[in-house]
Amino acid sequence: MSGHKLWPWRFDFERRTLTHIKGPVMDVYKPSQLPRYQNVRNRYTRLLADQPAEVSGVICTVRTVAPAVVAVASTTTEPPPKAVPECFMDVLEEWGCLWMWDSIRMTGTDGWLEDSIKEGTLCAVTDGSYIREIAPDLCSAALVLECSKGRGRIICSFPEQSLCANAYRAELLGLMAVHLILLAISRSVKGLTGHVKIFSDCLGALGRVLHLPHSRIPSKCKHADILKNIMINCKKLPFSLEYLHVRAHQDDEANYGELIRPAQLNCWADYAAKTVIWGRMGLDPLPQKPFPLEPITVWVGGHKLTPDTSSELRFWVHRQIAREVFVELKILDADAFDEVAWRQVFNTLHDLPRLFQIWACKQVTNIAATNKREYQIKKRKKIYHDPRCPSCNFAIETCEHVLSCCEAGRVDCLQKSIDSLEVWLEESNTEQVLKECILKFARGRGGTSMVLATVEHGQSYRRMAESQDFIGWRRFMEGMISKEIVEIQREHCGLEDIEITADRWAQGLITKLLEITHGQWLYRNVHVHDKVTGTLATRRNEELKEAILDQLYIEEEGLAEEDKYLLEINLKDLEHTSGVKQHYWLLAIRAARRWQELQAMEERGVAEHDLADEGRASE
Ligand SMILES: [Zn+2]
Repeated sequence: MSGHKLWPWRFDFERRTLTHIKGPVMDVYKPSQLPRYQNVRNRYTRLLADQPAEVSGVICTVRTVAPAVVAVASTTTEPPPKAVPECFMDVLEEWGCLWMWDSIRMTGTDGWLEDSIKEGTLCAVTDGSYIREIAPDLCSAALVLECSKGRGRIICSFPEQSLCANAYRAELLGLMAVHLILLAISRSVKGLTGHVKIFSDCLGALGRVLHLPHSRIPSKCKHADILKNIMINCKKLPFSLEYLHVRAHQDDEANYGELIRPAQLNCWADYAAKTVIWGRMGLDPLPQKPFPLEPITVWVGGHKLTPDTSSELRFWVHRQIAREVFVELKILDADAFDEVAWRQVFNTLHDLPRLFQIWACKQVTNIAATNKREYQIKKRKKIYHDPRCPSCNFAIETCEHVLSCCEAGRVDCLQKSIDSLEVWLEESNTEQVLKECILKFARGRGGTSMVLATVEHGQSYRRMAESQDFIGWRRFMEGMISKEIVEIQREHCGLEDIEITADRWAQGLITKLLEITHGQWLYRNVHVHDKVTGTLATRRNEELKEAILDQLYIEEEGLAEEDKYLLEINLKDLEHTSGVKQHYWLLAIRAARRWQELQAMEERGVAEHDLADEGRASE
């Protein structure tokens, strides 16, 4: 019988025989002759062992009543033999993954499909649609199979959610659906031979399907999931296929009525596929689903993995590793980790210069060079190093302290950097309340919670606020923004028709926050190294820019040890710097220099108001 379950016991009513099948042999049980059970109904004892197996009677289960005595517990009749599918629709149903066929409709006389294929009058026309502006991760396909003698017609259209959605994929989806239907037809009619014409307006997709390899799709191939499905399952049909090109949108130039039938059907399919996309406007994205007959699918974070989405796999693997490390190093606990907009953080970091990436990593994991760290390292060699902060000369300098140092010049530098964040938020069409809250929270330097910052703005910001507070101020300043922040901006983008997407916006915000934190490092480093022999940072701004640019080309070589930190600067658009825009690193270096000069003068006993004037004059 079908199914994967084994039924070793069978009961034959007429012969009052119970058999226990054990592979090729069986034990035979007869009504028990043991003294206590002789006259009791339904008690069986083994009479023969290891007889050649022979199936008779109905499936049953037994229970053990006493040693060597069993009773029949239940019996059931055989399920009816599986019906031969009468119609290709039964076959589609058997395959599952019915989402593709939700809209399928068939009209026509009895047996029309069979006759049509036999006589070679069946035409399949398909078209796909993809409208990035409406749904960047959605494509759709529509298809029609029609007998050119008018005996019948099948129509169908469906959407597919996928990270690799594009117009080409949409065309391939339509072709795959046609192939699957043809395969289902061939399974429902034994020995069907004949001919089918398949039309598409996409030469690329037609060519791809026509010239599919026989055994293996190259691993880097785009949309391998679709091509594999066609290659493995649909290439050995008992009837022949002919792939034909039909020019798209012929109704633009001629009356629909004057077009040849495949061109008319192409216009219909084009419209039907577009209608599917339009119909999903404003709806939540669909989950991606496997195809009928698709043998193995690998899913990562709700998306099907194909060669086109391998970056997706990279993201989820990195995220998993990071989550463990973050918990282990007590950077964030697991719940807080899950609140962070990691996709945007991941994309941001991958766009930044390598040395800046490394700096960010060191800052987050507390291994950037601080006086505390140097103190620990030197202690092993029995050398004393002052673990205190070079700016405030008071607190132990840790990576955390780098952000929270109270020295006036640094706080001033931090606030000025946040001023430049404000300008950026303004320019980038940030949702108004969100902008205010971000600035309030950042300026609070860890003393203001996001909940407090949003308190006047009602419940809709509450969720974001709690989420961000969970992550905390320090991590926020290190770029770990809450995913709720991105969602607020996303909704805003949707309503206001804003050019920059919420994801790009989030990447910008994360970069700005990292730069602010890095600014605090530059400030600190200028303090430490200028006191020693730092040379680059003491140059004038223009010279500094030139010098850093030169250094970029020769990397670390030729750079004094104490100036190497300057290479970590995020210099992405250094060469396009207009001079009008204040770069975060110039701001930080200049601020550090000025406060150093002030300090020096203070030591020499110069009155403060004179200092301020001089500070300005030196700019
Ligand atoms: Zn300090």
